[in-house]
Amino acid sequence: MGVMADIELVRGDITEQEVDVVVNAANSSLLGGGGVDGAIHRKGGPEILAECRKLRAGHHGKGLKTGQAVATTAGRLPARWVVHAVGPVWSQAEDRSSLLADCHRNSLAVAAELGAATIAFPAISTGVYRWPVEDAARIAIAAVNDSDTSRFSIIRFVLFDQRAYDAFHNALP
Ligand code: ADP
Repeated sequence: MGVMADIELVRGDITEQEVDVVVNAANSSLLGGGGVDGAIHRKGGPEILAECRKLRAGHHGKGLKTGQAVATTAGRLPARWVVHAVGPVWSQAEDRSSLLADCHRNSLAVAAELGAATIAFPAISTGVYRWPVEDAARIAIAAVNDSDTSRFSIIRFVLFDQRAYDAFHNALP
């Protein structure tokens, strides 16, 4: 039995977090999008997209599969790295919960490999990908609590609005 991760919740903007790793709610192309992705590239500058393009030209020629995560520089963000994680699009017909959990587990694993001790997540899949935020919060918190988080001193969820904040607050153990 592991010790439960000490999860921090804040209302705010993921691009302003002074942490080792900021997780991006990316899409499989890795070439930018709206929401969190747009904000990260806008504030982080062109260096992030340049590294994403290199990933597409190399090991990730077809882009990134749903549930997977990969790191780049954080450019001008006050973080050291961005870990781009691809969340699943919400589906009523199919249970994609394990892919949403994978996103969180794989982001933590990539961050650990980088040597990160502090990490901030947005509410992955709850924007353009339409995942109901109460359900996404439950899955995200459970995935973090099921992971080995012993190396992390901060695991923070950064929630853009009060509804998301309340959902994550209610999902805490
Ligand atoms: P996805 O495509 O995975 O649904 P989005 O970026 O569209 O990702 O939205 C994910 C969540 O992030 C939504 O709850 C949205 O309100 C929130 N969000 C949007 N911009 C930011 C930001 N700058 N910082 C933190 N959260 C944000």
